[in-house]
Parts: sequence; structure tokens; C-alpha cells
Amino acid sequence: MKRTKINTLLHQGQVNQIVNVKGWVRTFRSNRFIALNDGSTINNLQAVVDFENFDETLLKRINTGACVSVTGTLVESQGKGQSMEVIVETLEIIGDADAEKYPLQPKKHSLEFLREIAHLRVRTNTFSAIYRVRHAMIFAVHNFFNEKGFFNVHTPIITGSDAEGAGEMFRVTTLDLKNTPLTEEEEINFKEDFFEKETNLTVSGQLEGETAALALSEIYTFGPTFRAENSNTTRHLAEFWMVEPEMAFYDLNDNMDLAESFLKYLVNYALEHCKDDLNFLNNRYEEEQKAKPQNERTEMGLVEHLEFVKNNNFERVSYTEAIDILKGSKPNKKKKFKYLIEEWGADLQSEHERFLVEKHFKKPVILYNYPKNIKAFYMRNNEDDKTVAAMDVLFPGIGEIIGGSQREERLEVLKSRIIEMGIEESEMNWYLDTRRFGSAPHSGFGLGFERMIQFITGMGNIRDVIPFPRTPGNAAY
Ligand code: ATP
Ligand code: MN
Repeated sequence: MKRTKINTLLHQGQVNQIVNVKGWVRTFRSNRFIALNDGSTINNLQAVVDFENFDETLLKRINTGACVSVTGTLVESQGKGQSMEVIVETLEIIGDADAEKYPLQPKKHSLEFLREIAHLRVRTNTFSAIYRVRHAMIFAVHNFFNEKGFFNVHTPIITGSDAEGAGEMFRVTTLDLKNTPLTEEEEINFKEDFFEKETNLTVSGQLEGETAALALSEIYTFGPTFRAENSNTTRHLAEFWMVEPEMAFYDLNDNMDLAESFLKYLVNYALEHCKDDLNFLNNRYEEEQKAKPQNERTEMGLVEHLEFVKNNNFERVSYTEAIDILKGSKPNKKKKFKYLIEEWGADLQSEHERFLVEKHFKKPVILYNYPKNIKAFYMRNNEDDKTVAAMDVLFPGIGEIIGGSQREERLEVLKSRIIEMGIEESEMNWYLDTRRFGSAPHSGFGLGFERMIQFITGMGNIRDVIPFPRTPGNAAY
């Protein structure tokens, strides 16, 4: 008999029909009620076994975690909490799970414990919901850009350009580390390496993305990026996914408009397509908030947060205005910030970003026109010669979720920035060619995909929104 997915049954199932369902046992209670889940939805299907008609040894194998196939009649449920259930006629154990050894017991496990068994945590309600929401968001990203006529471009994952500038890189090499070939100057001879030069894992697809935008007009990349930053925070991974649109003929304002409508589209997509999972995550979030001390709780629930972002304009604030606000703020005056804001030019830390978003404006904020000294070489110089046309989108609970800029399209200005930053010009010739031939104003940004999933799911730690997180000291699986 053909198997039907639980999600299909619960939405389109016809009562009094014989159905087959396969899935994993969540609980088996009173020797009678199996809560069965096949991952197609957060909702379990109740399968009712009349224990008198079943062999005792078979019943003993219906343990939490076991994989089973049940065939029986779909009926309207008698009990509370579910609309339909299956009265089991035949039951087959597909894969046993030893109740003594199975790590996931039908009780609450801590997120920390589940991180240690990342290969099994997808079988919990929380993680299966996160995996499904993540899928929906991947789909929504492609939908958004496809509908707008952007082209998806695959930029390289192994990069030979060492000036991406966004962070520390992971080296890619096939050299024998015990016996590295040396040059006459006793330095590692990368001419003998696989690519005959130094290569790394990419930190961003932007520079290659720009070359495509200056031919296809509007493109986006959506790929893995790698940063060997030794920051053990709840918002940093060593391997994460980034969405990077790049658009010819967009100035900084156009860039901010696109970023805002993109984020709202994703939030709205989740609200419309992930209702059951978001309800579950919303309850999880509320319980987590209740366990916190009063002053650390957020005022809004998860779904309320999402509705709020969807329905309100983001606050656009220049870096200079932000510094004035921060300088005069209570935590700065009372020396509550770890890094006090003393003068214009200071780099903003996440405590400052979160103050602006959560305490001052109480809504998402787009900061723009940052001091050029704290930003990358490719950002467009403003008239004041002090700031560049950069923008960061800051979200409640997250801090920076997007970083972007209008790019420097003027060859001479860009060249002098490259020299100022001590970057080898010859290495950047391919990039400079885009400015030598048919240069045009253009802009783009990068959305950290996992930070977005954190926002949508309300998960506090970025390690919980990617199936197999890579962080300093952790590359299991
Ligand atoms: P941060 O200051 O938060 O470390 P960044 O300024 O280094 O971020 P960008 O280079 O601007 O980050 O990257 C674009 C986006 O990628 C960021 O806005 C963020 O959402 C995401 N991002 C950056 N670094 C990481 C990381 N290590 N793990 C997960 N997401 C990241
Ligand atoms: Mn940034």
C-alpha cells in the first residue's frame, strides 16, 4: 500500500479510508496510543492499537524512536488534541530503537545536550520545526529574487583572491604539512601547491558577484562562506550561509529599500507558510522568556515580533546621528557599556547596536554613512571624504543582520583606497577591470542567513539554526 504523509492526511485525509503511514514513534502510552511523527509536520498522528489483538512481543518494540509502518482506518478522533487518528490493523516495525539506549527520551532536553547529538536532534519538535522553517526561507529567498528578475550566480567557494577583507580565512592546501616545500627564502612554496598559489575558503562572494552585476544588472549569490574568526558568540559560525544581491544602477537608498523589502518578504513568507511551526516555536519562546529574570525578558512574543517587523518601517539613521544618541545615552553616561562611546569614529559593538534597536528606537534600524576607516576598501567614498556609503541593518535580539554598501565605481578613487589599505594592486586587476571598462554605480549587501533564521525562529544561539554547526573547536560529523 502507498504511504501517505501525515501532513497530507491531517489536511486532506478522508475518514473511513484505509491508509498507510510510516514514521518514528514519539510516545507510546497506555499500551494503546502511538504518537507518530514523520517530519512532514510538527503535528503527530495518533495511531490507536487494540492491544488485545496484537502480539505482546510486538507491542514491546513500539518504543520512542522506533520506526514503524502502520496501516488502518482513518477516523475522526474521539480524544482531544487531534482531529483524526488511525485505528491500526497491521503494524510493522521498520527499525527498532532500544529504549534503554536511545538518547532522546520523551521529556525536555536542554539545547546544550541536543547540540552534542546533532545527528539525532532533528527528531525533536524544536529542531524539526527549525529545519522546516529553514527550508521555507531558502525557498523564499529564491522566490523573492526570481520574481524581481535577479539572476542567481554561483561564485567560487575556493578563492584565489586574498583581499575579500571580511575576516580571517581558512587555508585550502594539498601540501604535505610535515614536509612543506620551501622557496629559496625558506618560505612555503605555494607554486608546488594544488593551485600553484595560495588559496582559501571564501569569506564572501561579493567581488565576483560584482563582475556579474556589471553585465546582468541584478544578481544574487546564496552560498556557504567561511570565517576563521575565533569569536565564541551566539551570533558567529565558522561556516555560514550568506545571501548577497548585487545591483547595477542602485545607489545607497535603493540598496536600503531592497534590503528592507527583502527582509519583510521573508518574514511575511514565514508567517504565511510556517504557521504550525511558528506557533510551536512561539510557545517555546514564551516558556524560555518566563524562565528569565524580569528585566531580561522581551516585551513581545515571537510571532508578535515578526508581525511588528512586517508592519513597521525601519528607522534610517546616519552613523553620525547614532553616535550622538549613544554618547548621550544612559548606559554610556553611567558607564554601563563595556566599550564607552567617546568620539566620532568609534566602531560600534553589538551592545551599542542593540541599545539603538531595542531601547532607543524599538524597531529595526538601518545605520548608514559610516567612517571610512572602519569599513572595507570597496565602499563608495562620500563627498565629505570622511564617510563611505555603507549601511548595516540591525535587528532586535540579533544586532547586525545585513551589511552592505554602494560600491566605489570610480577607478582612480578605488585604486587609491586599495593602496591605502596595503592591498597588492596586481592581485586586484581582474576586479579593477570592471571599473576600467564600462563601470557603473552599483550596490549590494550580504544577509547572514542563520541570523535571519534566528530571528524567525526565536532561537538565541546560532548553533541551533544550522544542522551541523562549525565553531572554534567543533567540527564533529
Ligand atoms: P559582525 O560584525 O556581526 O561579526 P561582519 O560585519 O563581520 O559581522 P559582514 O562581513 O558585513 O559581517 O557580513 C555580512 C553578514 O553576514 C552580517 O551582517 C551577518 O549577518 C553575517 N555574518 C557575518 N559573520 C558571520 C558569522 N561569523 N556567522 C554568521 N553570520 C555572520
Ligand atoms: Mn558588517
